[in-house]
Amino acid sequence: MADYPFPDPVVEIANVEEVARDLVVIANRDVDLVPNIGVIGGTHSVLVVDTGLGPRNAEKVLSFASEYARGRRLYLTTTHFHPEHAFGAHTFTGAATYLVNTAQAEDLATKGAGYLAMFTQLGEPVARELDSTRIPVPDLTYDGGYELDLGGRTVLLQPTGRAHSKGDQVVTVPDVDVMFTGDLAEAGQFAIFPWFPPHDTDVSGIRWVEVVKRLAEQRPRVVVPGHGDVGGARLLADVRDYLTELRDETWLRRDSAMAEETVAEEVRALMIERHPEWRLPEWIERGVSCLCAEHPAEMA
Ligand SMILES: [Zn+2]
Repeated sequence: MADYPFPDPVVEIANVEEVARDLVVIANRDVDLVPNIGVIGGTHSVLVVDTGLGPRNAEKVLSFASEYARGRRLYLTTTHFHPEHAFGAHTFTGAATYLVNTAQAEDLATKGAGYLAMFTQLGEPVARELDSTRIPVPDLTYDGGYELDLGGRTVLLQPTGRAHSKGDQVVTVPDVDVMFTGDLAEAGQFAIFPWFPPHDTDVSGIRWVEVVKRLAEQRPRVVVPGHGDVGGARLLADVRDYLTELRDETWLRRDSAMAEETVAEEVRALMIERHPEWRLPEWIERGVSCLCAEHPAEMA
C-alpha cells in the first residue's frame, strides 16, 4: 500500500473555534483529509455540517455535537459526498436526521463505493479510518434548497449545481452571515480538482468559476472553507481569482494547440509563482487537465 506522507486524518475535538453566537467550527488545522466541521445551534435544534473521515472520526463529532446540543434535536448535512466530508454519516443514524440535496444523494449512491475503494488505497492511516465505513443513505433529500428551522435561527441549504462535484451545496446562516462552502473554497491551498478520468470527471472548472463568482458577490462576513483557516469574503474572491486565472492561462495556451503536458508544466510554474504560500500544488495539474477537456474547441 502507498506511503501516506501526511499527518493521520484524525478530527481533533480540541480545535473548536466559536465563529459566531451558538456556532462553532471544529477546525481542520490544515490536516489533509480532515474537513472543517460546523456545529450550528438554534433554540430547539442543532445542525452538524460534515462528519470527518469514517466511523471513528464521526463518533467523536457526534459525541461532541450531542454534548453541545444539551438535549436539542440533532440534524446532519454534508457539503458534498467526498469521503472526509460525508463518509461518517452512517454513524449518526438514529441520533440525527441526515438531510442533503438530491444530486448529492445520487453522488453517494453512484460514486460512494468507488471513492471508498480509491481512498482506502491512499495509505494505511486512511484505510484505518475508513475501516467499517458504510456509505450513508440520507433520511431526507430536497431539490432547489431547504430552509432548516433550528428555532430562532434558519439555516439555508443551497445546492450550487455541478462544480467541485455534481452535488455540492453551501450552508449559510443568515442571522450571523456565516457561509460553509465545502470544497468549493479552500484557504491556503490550491483548489482540489477531483479529476480522475475515466472514473470521475464530474468536476467542472468552468461551472466552478461561475459558482464561486456568485458566492463571492454575497460577501459573507465569515467563510468556513472545506479545508484551511476560517476567513471572510476575501477568501471567496481569492478562490474566484485563482480559478479564473487557471482557466484563462490554460485556455490561452490551448488556443495555440500546445500539448497538455506543456500547458500543465507552464501553468503550474506560473500559479506557484503567484501563490507561493499555498499548499498542495499537485492539484494544479488536475485542474489544467479538467480545463483542457473543457476548452471550447473540445466542447464544440
Ligand atoms: Zn471534495
